[in-house]
Parts: sequence; C-alpha cells; structure tokens
Amino acid sequence: MDVVVSGASVAGPVVAHWLHRAGIEVTVVEQSPRLRRTGGHAVDLFTPAMDVLERMGVQDAVRDRATGTERMIIRREGSDREVTIDMARLMGALSDRHVEIMRDDLSEILYDATRHDVEYVFDDRITAIDDDGVVTFERTPSRRFDAVIGADGLHSGVRRLVFGPEAGYSRWLGGYIAVATIPGERPPGLMTTVLGANRMVGIYGARHSPDARAFFLFRPPAELDVGHHDLARQKQLLHETFGDLGDPVPGLLDEVDRSSAFYFDAITQLVLDTWSRGRVALVGDAGYCPGPAVGGSTSLAVVGAHTLAGELAEARGDTATAYPAYEAAMADYVHRSRDFATTMARKLVPGTRAGVWALATGTALVTRLPRAVGRPLIALGSGDLGLHESIEIRRYPALGDPPPE
Ligand SMILES: Cc1cc2nc3c(=O)[nH]c(=O)nc-3n(C[C@H](O)[C@H](O)[C@H](O)COP(=O)(O)OP(=O)(O)OC[C@H]3O[C@@H](n4cnc5c(N)ncnc54)[C@H](O)[C@@H]3O)c2cc1C
Repeated sequence: MDVVVSGASVAGPVVAHWLHRAGIEVTVVEQSPRLRRTGGHAVDLFTPAMDVLERMGVQDAVRDRATGTERMIIRREGSDREVTIDMARLMGALSDRHVEIMRDDLSEILYDATRHDVEYVFDDRITAIDDDGVVTFERTPSRRFDAVIGADGLHSGVRRLVFGPEAGYSRWLGGYIAVATIPGERPPGLMTTVLGANRMVGIYGARHSPDARAFFLFRPPAELDVGHHDLARQKQLLHETFGDLGDPVPGLLDEVDRSSAFYFDAITQLVLDTWSRGRVALVGDAGYCPGPAVGGSTSLAVVGAHTLAGELAEARGDTATAYPAYEAAMADYVHRSRDFATTMARKLVPGTRAGVWALATGTALVTRLPRAVGRPLIALGSGDLGLHESIEIRRYPALGDPPPE
C-alpha cells in the first residue's frame, strides 16, 4: 500500500511513523522549502499523547526540549501589583506527564525519528486528487496512491480540495491570536503577561532557545475583516488593540514590527462531522482543530494520527473499513475538545475587569493550595481539562502496540 501525507509538522510525521511500522510505504509532502524553523509557539502534550510518543521512542528527546515554563507573572491592566502563578504546580495538578514544548522543536524531533523510513518531499503541495488515486503535485510528477492523508493544519489544502471552502465548516470562537519571535533571551522558566478586559499580551522564552516569543490574545466585539496574508494590517491591529497598555507593551510591539516570524489568525474551530471522503482522510488540525491555543489540539493531533494509522493497519489498507472506524474512535474526544475550546476561548481572556481580577487571583490562590485540594478546584475552573488526561489510547496489534494491561 502507498500513502501520501500532506504536512510535516506534528500529525504528519506521527501518522507516517506508525504507517511505516505497519509496513506501509509513505511519502510526506510539505509546502515549506525545509522543515519549518519559523519560531512557532509552545504546545501541550498530555499523558495520552506522551504515551504515543513513548511508543515511538521519542519521549526522552521531547522531555529534553521542554520549554521549562515554571512561573507566570500576571500584571492586571491599570495596576502595578503582580500575581505569580506556579505553572509547574498548576500543570502538575492536571497531568502527571504534561510537557510543554515549542511546536518547531517537536516537529524536528518527529522528523528526525522518521526521515530514514519515510520519503519527505519539501517545497511542494498536492493540487489535485482524482477518483482513481492519481495525485497531482505543484512541482513533482503525478503519482498514484492508495490513500491520501491531509495533515496540513487548520487551513488544510487537502481539505479544501475534497470538502470545499473553509467558510462552510469553521466557526469563529470570538478571539484572535498573534505570536512573534523576537530577539533576546528571557529569564528561564518565566512567562510575563499583562491582562486586561478582552486582551492579554505576554512574553516567554524556552530553556534552550536564544529567542523569545511575544503573544497577543484579544476578543474584539465582532469578527474582523483582515486578510490572511495582510501582515501590515495585522500588526497595525495589534498596535490599535494593545498600544495603550503601558510598559513593556509598546517596546514589544516595536519588536513585533521588526519580526519576520509572525503569526496571526482568528481563533477558529472546525465543525466538520466527518474527516474522510473516498480514499482521503484528514488528521490533526486539518480535520478537527478545536481552536488554536485553546483546545489541546496538539495532543488531539498526536492521538488522532496514531488512531488513523492503527485503523488503516488493522483493516490492511482498506480505507472503506478503516476510515469509519477512525472517525468512530475519535468522535467523542473531538466533540469534547470542541466544547472545551469554546469555554477556554471565553475564560482565558475575561471580558470585564472583575473577571480579570478573579482569573488572576483565583488561579494564583488555587495553585498555593495542597495538591489534593487544588487539583479538583483547577479541574472545576477550567471546564473539562481532565479530558486530555482521560483519553484511552487504543492498542493496535498491527502497529506492534503492547496488549492492554
Ligand atoms: C499561535 C498558536 C498557539 C498555539 N498554542 C497551542 C497550545 O498552547 N497548546 C496546544 O496544544 N496547541 C496549540 N496550538 C495548536 C498546535 O500548533 C496545533 O494543534 C498542532 O501544531 C497541530 O499539528 P498539525 O500537524 O495537525 O498541524 P500544523 O502544526 O498546523 O502543521 C501543518 C503542516 O502542514 C503544512 N502545510 C500547510 N498547508 C500545506 C499544503 N497545502 N501542502 C503541504 N503542506 C502544507 C504546514 O507548513 C505545516 O508544516 C497553537 C497554535 C497556534 C497557531
């Protein structure tokens, strides 16, 4: 069986790894000219995703590259007082094995773990897929594949080819997010934020990274009309929204103006009911992004990639059997992630000053409580955050997974 995977970030290399383990030939095509080292942002791996990565043999590499964020300082808009949140304790209360890592570091680890077994083609993309499985590429010659997997993110090209324009199945969750890579090391383990009504700005570094990341989250009253590639307008919007927040925000905005590694997007949720059609399946953000930065989507992508490969391997490549089984196996996790993301998009950046005060002081307080008391309170306050810990990874003999304990 020959499979082509579009996208070499997280879901792509993970699904490629497991398909290869099942004896399936895999080609991964990535639109970037090389593995993306554009900076990226911190992402979360909860216990089920760490289980999958452990079985891939990359758990230690992932732990070695963890960002090491231990403390978050929140200064409320209009106040000089700072509240310190013990992030290590907060995440420790939620998950025994949680790791925060820069997405680009994770991609690199996954690529290194698969590049000898899988054919990677960079600087190319799929432009057409016909009913007989003939796939046309922008640069390289057409080839026939038994299955096509879209692992190409929230704005997936494969999804657009097969399911049509994004507007039909995406839902704005009320916010926008921007991240920029800016020069200068930051004190290790520290994230500093300024939180106002409907807006939050912050800066953090990673333990082993020479650069820092500035991030901006905001909730305008209505959806904005801003082009996906209109960087000038996007940066101007940040100035308009955050420019009055006082030090150190104006300096950060100047750095963002100079940054070439800049990301801006609406916090959007995909609401497709199905992630496959014919020989094509979607995995990770391409199929079921619950919302960037608010839904634990990296863990969902890792678990989804393992599940898709497992079902394909168990069905010996019969996509008509494997894809419905994959969708059934992932449905509950996806739907709960959507609910979780919808709640988090609202809670993360409160709409009132009172809400800002309650979030900052409440979280700080709860992390100071003994773990046995703090844990249920944190879980309660963050909706279904226990969700990411409660997912059971299916074990697929055809992937060489160990039998259930
Ligand atoms: C600003 C921001 C903050 C985030 N914060 C968090 C967080 O705190 N916690 C968390 O868990 N998750 C977070 N996420 C989400 C996380 O990055 C994604 O869930 C995760 O990277 C999904 O992996 P993926 O492989 O499905 O897609 P992506 O990582 O988006 O990768 C898609 C890949 O496909 C490639 N590609 C795109 N189009 C094409 C094409 N047409 N042809 C070929 N290749 C293509 C891209 O270059 C990329 O390499 C955040 C996302 C953003 C944007």
